[in-house]
Amino acid sequence: MAASSDELLFAPLGGVGEIGMNLSIYGLGRENARKWLAIDLGVAFAGDDLPGVDLILPDIGYLVEQRRNLVGLVLTHAHEDHFGAIIDLWPRLRVPIYATPFTAALFAAKRLAEPGAPDIPINEVPLGSRFSIGPFDVELVSMAHSIPESNGLIIRTPHGAVLHTGDWKLDPTPMIGPPTDEAKLRALGEAGCLALVGDSTNAVRDGRSPSEADVAKVLAELIGNSPARVAVTTFASNVNRIRAVADAARACEREVVVVGRAMDRVVQVARETGYLDGVQDFRSTDAYGYLPPDKVLALCTGSQGEARAALARIARDEHPDVTLSRGDRVIFSSRTIPGNEKAVGAVINGLVTQGIEVITDRTHLVHVSGHPRRAELEDLFSWVKPRIALPVHGEALHLAEHAALARRLGIPEVVTCRNGDLVRLAPGKPSVIDEVPEGRLYKDGRLLIQADARTVADRRRLGFVGVVCVAFAVDERGTLVSDPAVELIGIPEVDGEGEKMDAIAYDAALDTVENLPKPRRRDPEAIAESVRRAVRAAIAEGWGKKPICVVQVVVV
Ligand SMILES: [Zn+2]
Ligand SMILES: [Zn+2]
Repeated sequence: MAASSDELLFAPLGGVGEIGMNLSIYGLGRENARKWLAIDLGVAFAGDDLPGVDLILPDIGYLVEQRRNLVGLVLTHAHEDHFGAIIDLWPRLRVPIYATPFTAALFAAKRLAEPGAPDIPINEVPLGSRFSIGPFDVELVSMAHSIPESNGLIIRTPHGAVLHTGDWKLDPTPMIGPPTDEAKLRALGEAGCLALVGDSTNAVRDGRSPSEADVAKVLAELIGNSPARVAVTTFASNVNRIRAVADAARACEREVVVVGRAMDRVVQVARETGYLDGVQDFRSTDAYGYLPPDKVLALCTGSQGEARAALARIARDEHPDVTLSRGDRVIFSSRTIPGNEKAVGAVINGLVTQGIEVITDRTHLVHVSGHPRRAELEDLFSWVKPRIALPVHGEALHLAEHAALARRLGIPEVVTCRNGDLVRLAPGKPSVIDEVPEGRLYKDGRLLIQADARTVADRRRLGFVGVVCVAFAVDERGTLVSDPAVELIGIPEVDGEGEKMDAIAYDAALDTVENLPKPRRRDPEAIAESVRRAVRAAIAEGWGKKPICVVQVVVV
């Protein structure tokens, strides 16, 4: 098939080979008249290896270039790894956004809470609805997950239908919302499915994940037999869990106090959209101190050990209204996301030191994942019977396990790709046919910077070595007219022999300028470079590490 023929294409621009930052695009039509549909626009969270960086966003340079051909952006659900980049990146695209009511409402609340965020309209579409976006015929499939309204997408094209699963699991008894729409998925399989582009997060795990209802039972027990105060922390967006905690609290006549802004926001949106219908009103934090210990439950943000979130503040005894003490119980109804172990450990140890009992998912079924394990993936493949399996949403290991499982199940074509691969799904044998530009942006303060810019690499270097600044003035002939000024940042004050480092730098600078050959002295840049090398070498001799050295030469 020639490259200019009518094709159905897929390219991940984020989320494949990594956890987070999901962004996928589907392309339809001939190359010179191709339309693109984008799915999700998420962020990833930066670790300690990116000092000063708050968030990682996909580089959407390619989409910006293709803006005229981009017909829409569909959000599968309201987790940050799927919709967290919209406020920062949408202004560069200005593309129509489609989302179901809870996602739209949570997005609106988030936007309002961010000062200066642009006005971003969202086309609200009902759960399970079917609508057209340009040449794409999109139908939503309700999927159970750890947030209300996770939607799979059936994207119907003249080449066949694709199921883009989004994040999902099978849970016959979720606490809220409908279970995964098995009937619709089976019907898709009956009608014929070209490709299943799906969640790989838990493809390494055997069996099935337990139900939210199982977790609710355990929570009810642990909350019911708490001797004194009890605090529960969970992901703010997990409305299933909020409901389970609220029900458990009501059963033992405890009032629920919500602590933390992110949790407050989700509770408000969940009430507006009906997901907490029938759940008792929660109390504000100032009621906490008046309620008897066995009549109160604090529902807190901070399950990942975030230093500024409610639980860490409570653990440090810095919360103005909410306190815990010896004999109280804290339940982590959450999983520690890789990278956050130290922070979570610090909070837990802080609590335990104060004599507070801490319960986690290591000993009790107080959390389940929102992603499918292998038996659930097998069920989905058996219902949908796709011709092509294309694993996404996972690190390399998850993708490989998902692919291996699809092969074992006899899926005719299994395609593995990475961010930036352009996959032709149809016509012909599916394969990676090209690459599209992809990359990462860092949210640094108020700015977005390219990941390959030197900024963060410099900052990382600064974390290991210090800086020497040397400044002096010379006349036109390169003769010193002032003593060098030396400043050290992050460098030990004296070397092993007790000699002061700033004196070492000063002497090295002075010696170098005075001994430079005459022709070199006329060039201030050459002077600066010679001094820089000499000062670095001199400091390194005493220290064993080479500092960053900045030299300013002023010609007067
Ligand atoms: Zn996700
Ligand atoms: Zn999710």
